[in-house]
Amino acid sequence: MTAHDIWAPLRHELDRWQTAGKTVRFWLRDDDAIEPTSALEQLLKLTADAKVPLTLAVIPASTGEPLAARLGDAQQVLVALHGWSHTNHAGPEEKKQELGAHRPPEVVLGELRDGLAILRRLFGPRFISMLVPPWNRINGALIAKLPAVGLETLSVYGAAKADSPIRLLNTHVDIMNWHGVRGSRPQDELIADVVRELRARFDDDGEPIGILTHHLVHDENAWAFLSDLLIETRAHPAATWTSSEALVEA
Ligand SMILES: [Zn+2]
Repeated sequence: MTAHDIWAPLRHELDRWQTAGKTVRFWLRDDDAIEPTSALEQLLKLTADAKVPLTLAVIPASTGEPLAARLGDAQQVLVALHGWSHTNHAGPEEKKQELGAHRPPEVVLGELRDGLAILRRLFGPRFISMLVPPWNRINGALIAKLPAVGLETLSVYGAAKADSPIRLLNTHVDIMNWHGVRGSRPQDELIADVVRELRARFDDDGEPIGILTHHLVHDENAWAFLSDLLIETRAHPAATWTSSEALVEA
């Protein structure tokens, strides 16, 4: 315990949940996996040590047997579909999108179907039929068509929309800063975000809180935040980490 304990706000909020007899569900999604790397090793070790389930959003066009072999004994890991090749089809003035309205729906859905076949073959029972759109963006007109392709759940960023035509399992706290200087966000700011998400759920026990990471671009601060978050929450009786599979089945 340090004099300047930046985790105290989270601990206090979790204490409030515990006093009220409530438990919050966290889940962890990490994007852009393709192959085994030292960064992936770090993520796998961290989650295995903390016994925290991890959902890896894997890019099907670029992945292959080495990742499948590496995840073979990583019991805490599930795999989700991360678009097709993580290619931007939007114009220079637009936000980046692979699954936008820039191409005919049948082309985009065809790629997703191909991606599903690859991930099912490589990862077998580790694969969960969940789509994580690159850049968290997808043409709204495609969403209702996903179940027919074999995708039962969609995971994007932000509060889940109540009128979604498909099951949503979203993320809410992105530990990286994608604007300006790329890097991780300050830890006190991230902790405040997690506390805000907790407060928003205190009265109605809403959707699980999704933490979003990108192991390939983590700096030391990002790793430290994630490690400390897992330690803080694992040690607290009011917090649980749940696999995406268990959450979508609930
Ligand atoms: Zn991505």
